[in-house]
Amino acid sequence: MKKVIIIGGGPAGISASLYTVRGNVETTIFTQGGSALIKAEKIENYYGFPDGVSGQELYQRGIESAKKLGAKVIEKEVIGVGYDGSFVVNTEDDIYKADALVIANGANRTTPRIKNIKSYEGRGVSYCAVCDAFFYRNKSVCVIGDGEYAVHEAKILEKVADNVVILSDGKKGPDYENVIDKKIASIEGDEVVERVIFEDGSSIETSGIFVAIGVAGGVDLARKLGAIINGNYISVDENMMTNVPNLYAIGDCTGGLLQVSKAVYDGAKAGIEIVKRLK
Ligand SMILES: Cc1cc2nc3c(=O)[nH]c(=O)nc-3n(C[C@H](O)[C@H](O)[C@H](O)COP(=O)(O)OP(=O)(O)OC[C@H]3O[C@@H](n4cnc5c(N)ncnc54)[C@H](O)[C@@H]3O)c2cc1C
Repeated sequence: MKKVIIIGGGPAGISASLYTVRGNVETTIFTQGGSALIKAEKIENYYGFPDGVSGQELYQRGIESAKKLGAKVIEKEVIGVGYDGSFVVNTEDDIYKADALVIANGANRTTPRIKNIKSYEGRGVSYCAVCDAFFYRNKSVCVIGDGEYAVHEAKILEKVADNVVILSDGKKGPDYENVIDKKIASIEGDEVVERVIFEDGSSIETSGIFVAIGVAGGVDLARKLGAIINGNYISVDENMMTNVPNLYAIGDCTGGLLQVSKAVYDGAKAGIEIVKRLK
């Protein structure tokens, strides 16, 4: 039986699963519980709810409908993806494989509010360890983040860099041997990143800064697989497939109308297409 993994249990991911399960494709959904819906107190512009519906209820109903049809829903954070002939999805403890992968994990996070960070993008500030680690061979690098995703990125960098430090920017650091938990004030350097300055006036010399805050966003994951990114969004064709065969992106992570109705449409389109292609 062919397999699909859907990263995201919001309206886009659930909608895709309703088509893939019914099309006899083994479907696994990962959700971290953080759908944008949870923040929506009341949704009054979605089909079928004359009195409106709370975002929380719509999210729960979505998860239930996918489970009822036979999708497997795993409440775990995806921290990495790869390809070895199949798509590979990593959580903290496990590896999962599939013939098709759907990125449906919502709008990407914004860049952290750290002075100068934007201006050093491409000049020492990166959002993808697996893409850019090579440029930091035998150098010292930092990862900004405080969760499992930051640790995952640090471990990729350890293989090439001389020294890797996680900067948790004033938050409690993750379980990693080299963490600085001071609040970051700014990033400095001439042409490229040279150091991070902390609010207490101290600093650390570094050649590279990898941003891995919170959980891995859709763009972060797509980039690791070589998908084309346009600004903050993943580029897809009319069937919601990226430039990488059998890698799809749907919902808020592809931009356009950031609404439930558009996410549901994207999911349906991708689900139908996956069934067609995998058969
Ligand atoms: C305050 C607010 C009010 C809104 N009001 C409305 C409204 O009235 N009407 C309307 O149509 N839309 C509204 N929206 C927008 C709507 O919620 C989104 O457009 C919609 O939820 C997008 O669906 P999605 O499936 O693309 O992403 P999301 O619903 O954000 O779902 C993303 C999924 O990915 C999962 N995820 C993320 N990262 C990972 C990871 N690394 N590993 C595993 N799982 C992961 C999350 O847990 C979640 O299940 C509102 C949004 C907000 C924030």
